[in-house]
Amino acid sequence: MIASSLLSRLPAFEPGSVWLAGAGPGDPGLLTLLAAKALGEADAIVHDALVGGGILEAANPDALLVDMGKRAGHPSPKQEAINARLVELAREGRRVLRLKGGDPFVFGRGGEECLALAEAEIPFRVVPGVTAGIGGLAYAGIPVTHRGFGTTATFVTGHDKAGGLPADLDWDVLARLPGALVFYMALGTIGTIAERLETAGKPPMTPVAIVSSASTEAQSVIETNLAHCARDVVRLQAKRPAIVVVGEVVRLRALIGAWQQTTGRNPFSIAVSA
Ligand code: SAH
Repeated sequence: MIASSLLSRLPAFEPGSVWLAGAGPGDPGLLTLLAAKALGEADAIVHDALVGGGILEAANPDALLVDMGKRAGHPSPKQEAINARLVELAREGRRVLRLKGGDPFVFGRGGEECLALAEAEIPFRVVPGVTAGIGGLAYAGIPVTHRGFGTTATFVTGHDKAGGLPADLDWDVLARLPGALVFYMALGTIGTIAERLETAGKPPMTPVAIVSSASTEAQSVIETNLAHCARDVVRLQAKRPAIVVVGEVVRLRALIGAWQQTTGRNPFSIAVSA
């Protein structure tokens, strides 16, 4: 009932179209109204590994579910195959929901899928979602920006096509930025990231948090610092998916993380490193 007046004003999900939607970091409560509507009405749902089970359970039971998950260390479907599948399903006259973890345009290759749909002349709609690097951090009690704690927030991928750190990152610039550095897909490269930032002058005691499975029942957080983060990832067996944040904002977690309500999830499975 809550949002029925809002729901009735949402656009129609037309057969033969694709909605490219973000599902948020995991908690179904972070779905947008548009994503929730599309879940209920879709005839086909093409989803990623990062879309939580609780969300797919809410899907139209008659919808065809297509798992296009890419998991680290496993062979992943080629992007071209995903694009082709979306086009094919839409041409069959289905309402196609392309559901991705977080936001579709934040390290999610959503843009490539839009280009493929545009080229095939398939109508589509982009439904933004809550990205892990903002909403996931919030669930761990870390505001991505905070007055007095810097003036920038920077999203960085820790992982390129070949699986290593992207070669074009300018570490001198990153180290100098006055605000949080938020790394996606960086658990495997965190040692090199820390080393490069330290070499470029970032103080070794700069706070670092590693937030795993943010906003899900399995959420866990490691608080550490630049000098010790690589060791702590191994020692404390940090789990994927994980977002890594480097910066003073991590300190706010001591109060915000301790006091905020988190819809029954447990943000307190912390390990604090010296
Ligand atoms: N489009 C997604 C990001 C996809 S890249 C978004 O906007 O959030 C995949 C990376 O996202 C993971 O390696 C991890 O760094 C991050 N991620 C996604 N969901 C997460 C979660 N629930 N908790 C922690 N990190 C998450």
